[in-house]
Amino acid sequence: MANDKKNFGTKALWSGEEGPFATNDITLPIHHSVTFGYEDIDEWFDVALGKRSGHIYSRNTNPTVRPLEEKMRELDGAQEATSFSTGMAAISNTLFTFLHPGDRVVAIKDTYGGSNKIFIEFLPKMKVDVCLCDTLDFEAIEKEIDKGCKVVYLETPTNPTLKIVNIPRLAKKAKEVGAIVIVDNTFATPINQRPLELGADLVVYSATKFLNGHSDAMGGILCGNKALVDEVFHYREITGATLHPHSAYMILRGLKTLELRIIRHNENAMKVAQFLKAHPKVSEVYYPGLETHINHDVAKSQMDGFGGMLSFSLNGDFEAVKKLIPHIKYAHKAASLGSVGTLIGPPRTTSHVELTAEERKQAGIPEGLVRYSAGIENSEDLIADLKQALDKI
Ligand SMILES: *Cc1c(COP(=O)(O)O)cnc(C)c1O
Repeated sequence: MANDKKNFGTKALWSGEEGPFATNDITLPIHHSVTFGYEDIDEWFDVALGKRSGHIYSRNTNPTVRPLEEKMRELDGAQEATSFSTGMAAISNTLFTFLHPGDRVVAIKDTYGGSNKIFIEFLPKMKVDVCLCDTLDFEAIEKEIDKGCKVVYLETPTNPTLKIVNIPRLAKKAKEVGAIVIVDNTFATPINQRPLELGADLVVYSATKFLNGHSDAMGGILCGNKALVDEVFHYREITGATLHPHSAYMILRGLKTLELRIIRHNENAMKVAQFLKAHPKVSEVYYPGLETHINHDVAKSQMDGFGGMLSFSLNGDFEAVKKLIPHIKYAHKAASLGSVGTLIGPPRTTSHVELTAEERKQAGIPEGLVRYSAGIENSEDLIADLKQALDKI
């Protein structure tokens, strides 16, 4: 499903940054100013009321942060976008805006660790009824949605086993009961998947990952229906999880190469997945681009590319993982993902370290699982590196 009409390369460069900028800069200046001054009281008043464009105070809006929101709005084909200090701030602010005592939310079990904590720890304390469903049992999810809910919360591909959730199917059911559909699109980015086109109302991102792409700034983004985004913006401008202008600049800079990077991430992950799939010491490879993947058909129908993330498990479980990882040269042994440099880590000691072995088993996370965020290096080097490391175990 090649998509050449979206002109992502051009939007990534120009959207939100058409200029002209003060003093003829050709890159957007970083506006560190916390507050913005007005000599004319009427003008000040109009800006404060939103009748005239401008900025008042950087917790609310800022001239470096706003162009980032505008660029993401264009890339996702959204009516509106806003930003946050981190991905978790985007997710928590969005959920807390819409979920109140007595409301019900239907979500999948395989959400990002932090999101899962919101569902199992914080929302129940606020007397929100949380229903977590088996990620791939779409029929069961539809049944739960049918019982009525305020929000349907999805994430796809999932972490760390790269399950693919059928967005159009579940969004259609959610529409029938008037629920708001939120999709965490962090793994895919708008280059590979645009949930708003697939029926979602809102899309959330950790901009810390592929959007920024260089592991040197944190941020969160929310895009979608204007009335809904405005509500979350209001919650965020009061509760204060605002994106710093310097981080906004870093993310804007990273976004300029988003399409180029994602094309390379996609290619590298596919080649690495194919190599691992054929390796005798590897027992399973989880990558939605492989025809053997459990929902390859759904991935193909809703994604333009399969992403830079994969995971694999080794014969010999965690002992084998402990032996393998120190031999890998071209991967940072670290948490996080979506950077230009490859990252590797076992979910057993990163995202799912707090679970017991039994809980990991229940969550479908093999003890010998390794998560691999393919960077933009040359794929032959990544593969040769994995090969020599596997030879040593
Ligand atoms: C990292 C991540 C988050 C949280 O983002 P932060 O920027 O670390 O707060 C949310 N969802 C997914 C899928 C992630 O990978």
